[in-house]
Amino acid sequence: MMLDYPSLLLALGVSAACLMVTLFGTWYSRRTDSFLLTLVISLCLIVAGIVVYSRFTPQSGIAPAAIAYALLMGGFSTIYAASVQFRTGTPPWRLAGTLFFVSLALGLPLILVGLDGLGLMILNVLTAILLVGTGCQYWAARREAPGPLLGMVILYCVSGFSFALCAGVLIADGRLSLGEPPVNWAENLNIGICIAGMTGIGALSLALHQWRMAALHRHEAMTDALTGLLNRRALFDQYGGRRLNASTAVIVFDIDRFKLINDRFGHSAGDEVLKLFAQDMMAEMVPAATAARLGGEEFAMVVGEVMPGRAERIANAVRMRFAARDIVIDGKLLRCTVSAGVSVGTPEGQPFEAVLNLADGALYQAKDAGRDRVEIASYLRAIRPAPDSRTSA
Ligand code: GH3
Ligand code: MG
Ligand code: MG
Repeated sequence: MMLDYPSLLLALGVSAACLMVTLFGTWYSRRTDSFLLTLVISLCLIVAGIVVYSRFTPQSGIAPAAIAYALLMGGFSTIYAASVQFRTGTPPWRLAGTLFFVSLALGLPLILVGLDGLGLMILNVLTAILLVGTGCQYWAARREAPGPLLGMVILYCVSGFSFALCAGVLIADGRLSLGEPPVNWAENLNIGICIAGMTGIGALSLALHQWRMAALHRHEAMTDALTGLLNRRALFDQYGGRRLNASTAVIVFDIDRFKLINDRFGHSAGDEVLKLFAQDMMAEMVPAATAARLGGEEFAMVVGEVMPGRAERIANAVRMRFAARDIVIDGKLLRCTVSAGVSVGTPEGQPFEAVLNLADGALYQAKDAGRDRVEIASYLRAIRPAPDSRTSA
């Protein structure tokens, strides 16, 4: 036996309400991804709209239809705004408000003067447009999480299409005043699709949220929180086990007498100096380079596709930029220097760790030789003597 229309409407309301609770719980536990909260608010409006619409009977007069129209248009406008928020990160309220007022202006006056049939045609057309538009937003964002997002696109478009069918049947029928909810095959199909679609969209929205969280955690695990550079683990993930050829260089930096800065000015002043040094490193980066904080006040830069001598010039540029920087802490001016060691792979390829160790060795030579200088690994000096051996300050 087919379920009657009020039971289907009730089922839709219940499934929307359950979904709302789940989405709210997920949002509440982290409170980061606020598009979930926007979805919860849109579902609130839609559930309220469904409940009020179920009160629309020949005896009720036109009021429930008018209120349901406002609530449902508010809900679907907010659903669209949530998808824009998901894609762009902009707050949704302006957009939702604008869409809401436009849709009110288009349909509410008609319902209020008794043209509820025409009002429902407009409601169905606008909802179809908003839902397909929502599908387009998720389509535009599909690269972030192709699986869940394609699922969202399909569900929103199918739901939108079912509203378009309802509009089509009402328009074909041509009755501008109804005085009660229309009952026809398209309405039943629409409710069925909405129950299934809403459940699917709910599940996929949760999947998307998890996907974003996982990406965030991966990013956090790879980033040095203080400087925003890659951390040691990320650098080794990228290069560990790789062999570096003669056009790939490793530069290791270590800030000079950093302990003194901590001792004299405090740990937070030391942290500030680390951030400034990271900025200087970024300022001298070339496109094929990777910068990382190895730990403490030690940093590394891997530079690909370099001509001989280029890595030393980069290292010296960072060194000079940092040395020239006026650092003001508690109103006191402070100057700071850095030492660096440079090493390069060989034509036959050298393990990354080996090149890094050679650069480290060169760094200790720079420290021994008085700091604030750049040294290149000794085996390189043997290969390329004359001009490059005088790279230090
Ligand atoms: P050198 O010129 O020989 O490199 O002298 P140095 O004082 O820089 O050498 P050392 O490696 O002994 O000192 C490093 C100091 O860096 C020790 C440690 O307290 C401090 N340090 C390590 N990590 C951090 C950090 O995240 N923040 C701050 N403020 N200090 C740190
Ligand atoms: Mg140091
Ligand atoms: Mg050190």
